[in-house]
Amino acid sequence: MIREECGIFGIYGQKEAAQYVYLGLHFLQHRGQESCGIISSDQTSFYKQIGLGKVSEFFDEEKLNYLKGNQAIGHVRYSTTGSPTLVNTQPLSAMTTKGPIALAHNGNLTNASSIRQRLMKEGQTFSTTSDSEVILHLIARAPYDDIVESTRWALSQLEGAFAVLVMNRDTIIAARDPMGFRPLALGSHEETLTPATQTYVFSSEDTAFSIVQATRVREIMPNEMVVVNSSGLESLPIVSSQPKSRQCIFELIYFAKPSSRVFETSVYEYRYEIGRQLAREFPVEADYVIPVPDSGIVSALGYSHESGIPMALGLIRSHYVGRTFIEPSQGIRDFGVRMKFMPVPEIIKNKRIIIIDDSIVRGTTSRKIIQIIKDLHPREVHFRVASPPVKYPCFYGIDFSRPEELLANKFQSIEEIAKYIGVDSVGYVSIEGLFPEALVNRELFCRACFDGNYPTPIHNVSKESFDHEIQQASLK
Ligand code: SF4
Repeated sequence: MIREECGIFGIYGQKEAAQYVYLGLHFLQHRGQESCGIISSDQTSFYKQIGLGKVSEFFDEEKLNYLKGNQAIGHVRYSTTGSPTLVNTQPLSAMTTKGPIALAHNGNLTNASSIRQRLMKEGQTFSTTSDSEVILHLIARAPYDDIVESTRWALSQLEGAFAVLVMNRDTIIAARDPMGFRPLALGSHEETLTPATQTYVFSSEDTAFSIVQATRVREIMPNEMVVVNSSGLESLPIVSSQPKSRQCIFELIYFAKPSSRVFETSVYEYRYEIGRQLAREFPVEADYVIPVPDSGIVSALGYSHESGIPMALGLIRSHYVGRTFIEPSQGIRDFGVRMKFMPVPEIIKNKRIIIIDDSIVRGTTSRKIIQIIKDLHPREVHFRVASPPVKYPCFYGIDFSRPEELLANKFQSIEEIAKYIGVDSVGYVSIEGLFPEALVNRELFCRACFDGNYPTPIHNVSKESFDHEIQQASLK
């Protein structure tokens, strides 16, 4: 399983702003479950509540009532750099000569380590091990009094991936890095504080607008900073010479909810089309197409449509599994995966089946799922994957950063992969097939984890080396 990155949500110009952010974060929970937080502002002071766990676990009425004001930003996190401790929980905040500043960041900066070391040599202290903290310090140290110019100055020095929400007492700034790796959508809300003001909403995925009854306006563009305050909305570029966009294709393949529209593309339509493409590239006779729930469902529908083979829910996902503390002392093989997926004997036994999943990264979960299925003695099992083999680490915020962990690196051939997973055949959609012309422009996407062509310098960083470097820097 790939662990996800982060989700950010903000609202400007709404009574009980924090309650709205709380609801929005619920719909972004799939992007990070380790920690969450909200900071609000009542134009005078900041109010902050951050903690470990899911949104519903951490927040209660008392905490939400504490968060006063008409503007707020929030964050759900799965740590991509730094440790999953309270100290790294976002939004981050700091008191500066420009007043209090709060930051929520999704993505991973590839030059955070060098900026951090430079700032530390200049006497800057750091209180987290997160790459995001450098953004906060750069804004604070920028040679401007104004939050907008200071933020632009700070963001223009960063390399890698960032979708950010920056807030001071009376302004929210939403921005995407010049290549636009991570998504960020702008929405508006009909109910406004006064007839003269507009309520604006920001979210990593627009599907979260529905729970707060906001309307999607558009995406924040790569290299764009959107500033909202009492003067209205203003759009500014971050750097003057904009590079080519390199949006993360994995957002469409796996991270985003099928109900979202990211990079101006319907996630549902995209996955359906990739399923159809997979059926064209790797047809096989079978009785049923079975999705790995939930990630493979939409592509399985597409595969079934194109192949004419009926889709059946041969694996049922248990939605009630939390952390499992009790494991039988004798040990049950693949216990964790067995807790999550229940096989349906009538669909599997003596049948020829095609399993569809969105991706295979390490292969360990796929292998366990196949074992559960094979316990029911199907006649044939074929695995079809709605993305190409992941061969290269991601440095832009996705947790599969060690090359030796990647299944497609461990084995040289598709036959070896099929043998390892335990199936009769494996088929991955091709890199060309990943970019259906009618839905996406391949020139605007990063696909470095498939082909190794990284769109930015990566300064030899990896999650481990980054963690190590910042720990060493912190110790020096
Ligand atoms: S390397 Fe892969 S996962 Fe990372 S940003 Fe590029 S496409 Fe997305």
